[in-house]
Amino acid sequence: MSWEANVRKVEPYVAGEQPKDHNIIKLNTNECPYPPAPGVAKRAEEMNCGDLRLYPDMNAEKLVNSLSEYYHVDPAKIFVGVGSDDVLAMSFMTFFNSDKPILFPDITYSFYDVWAELYRIPYKTCALTDDFHMKKEDYMVPNGGVIFPNPNAPTGVLESVDMIEEIIRENRDVVVIIDEAYVDFGGESVLPLIDKYDNLLVVQTFSKSRALAGMRIGFAMGSEKLIGYLKDAKFSFNSYTLNMPAIEMGVEAVKDDAYFKKTVNRIIATRERVKGELKELGFDFTDSKSNFLFATHKTVPAGELFRVLKENGIYVRYWNKKRIDNRLRITIGTDEQMDRLISFLKEYLK
Ligand SMILES: *Cc1c(COP(=O)(O)O)cnc(C)c1O
Repeated sequence: MSWEANVRKVEPYVAGEQPKDHNIIKLNTNECPYPPAPGVAKRAEEMNCGDLRLYPDMNAEKLVNSLSEYYHVDPAKIFVGVGSDDVLAMSFMTFFNSDKPILFPDITYSFYDVWAELYRIPYKTCALTDDFHMKKEDYMVPNGGVIFPNPNAPTGVLESVDMIEEIIRENRDVVVIIDEAYVDFGGESVLPLIDKYDNLLVVQTFSKSRALAGMRIGFAMGSEKLIGYLKDAKFSFNSYTLNMPAIEMGVEAVKDDAYFKKTVNRIIATRERVKGELKELGFDFTDSKSNFLFATHKTVPAGELFRVLKENGIYVRYWNKKRIDNRLRITIGTDEQMDRLISFLKEYLK
């Protein structure tokens, strides 16, 4: 028998491309088109690199405290990680250990099934409706845990806090994780519910609305008990905590709330304007409450549009997957970037 029989084999997550050419209009990975808060650059300049010889604070206390102040949540109820992907992967390992399947939507963040496979967690996907909404009854069956993004990705569709609370209420015997990577772009967070339900974990990230994807900062908020278990697993499993610059710059990003709100509102305004213009070109899309659109054209197939856009230096995301193979996920860029996208499409669709 070959040693390969004993290898833990995984089919890895496939991220959107990161092209080297800076002329490319990059609307494929939901990054923020604007730079992080000015305080971040200032802090980077002032940083004492001599301190890098020391290990970072493994509790990232400074960052936890600034999040605590910003969200009015006790520091003991906050966990930080190297991007929310780290927080989520750690949560899968810590909280999803049942023989019963965990539940998530059939169309959702494509990391969930990868982690489930990696950790050998049984899972079952629940079909979204034709307009990409969740059916709450699907999540009211025996299960080993529940996870979904709100707004969902790549659909951009937002579910109400009331509906999510119903799902949590029916699932008090498992952990329910709400992945709020895009909630700042017009969604309503379920954060206030963490004091009511000790099995609710709310996960957010600095990668999208706070323009720090390159820094890798994510965090989770939940009951002290839940966060305690997460910390136990993290400190037993890995010592790659947030690095020192990430802690410092994360603090700066949280500090400048005016800049944060201005940036987010700018992206929302661009999103709504672009919706109107794409509609005129024959596109249809969900009512996205995120920093991307999930669009389909009435005559031209998405696969073709994806290809010609790419050939012309405009990168968007496309999945050749059942139910979504005629859709493009288009990140909201700057107004100038979106104008170039629209004028190209105008010309091409003529
Ligand atoms: C982008 C994204 C994340 C993770 O982002 P990080 O950069 O790892 O913080 C998590 N969930 C969803 C749904 C996302 O789209």
